[in-house]
Amino acid sequence: MTGPAGVLDFSDSIGMNAAKRPAAIIFDLDGTLYVDLEFSREIARCAARYIAVVNGVPEERAAALIKETRRRLTESTGWEASLSLTCTELGGELRELHRRFEAEIDPLPFLTPDPRVPELLQALAGRYEIYLYTNNNRGLSGRIMDRIGISGLFRKVFTIEDSWHPKPDRETLEIIYRAVGHPPGECLFVGDRYDIDLRLPASLGSSVFCTQTLARLLALINIIDEEKR
Ligand SMILES: [Mg+2]
Repeated sequence: MTGPAGVLDFSDSIGMNAAKRPAAIIFDLDGTLYVDLEFSREIARCAARYIAVVNGVPEERAAALIKETRRRLTESTGWEASLSLTCTELGGELRELHRRFEAEIDPLPFLTPDPRVPELLQALAGRYEIYLYTNNNRGLSGRIMDRIGISGLFRKVFTIEDSWHPKPDRETLEIIYRAVGHPPGECLFVGDRYDIDLRLPASLGSSVFCTQTLARLLALINIIDEEKR
């Protein structure tokens, strides 16, 4: 987590930077609604296979290039760079990268459903409008959601295919605010990477909640509990 200390509250309460109760909650998917290191490595391997082809280098070298380029982009911008952005920097094409992700990656052997996640989302969906906004593509994110039992729980799912501009992207974010029908101050964003999922919405006045573990994610239920008080 790279949130600036003292600006946002990442305490166990909820990490909201606005006192106002949110109308809409917008979730990230990968690393947020499930956490699986081996699966993220599988995605990284698929990206490396593609970058190897694009650059005419062995897969191992491509993996190192992705790592180096990501570090350089992060250092030069001060924001953590997404895998999508890193691959385009290395000559990759976003649509082809995602075509490969969709064709080559199977979440089934990696992800184990945890019933507490759909339970949490169902509880939240009864009181808030819940949405999903992911840098993943429609096909693979759909299979992941099926696997972890959360398909059909969101009012709308926004994927990379809606704009082909990966998070963080201001224009896409403004489209999302319009689509959910609430100004930034009435939206809560939930994600695992501050720079990619949360920094931009926070700068526009949304509340944010950073979570990188299931235990932390489940603490979101505090929103409901707070409301009952
Ligand atoms: Mg994520």
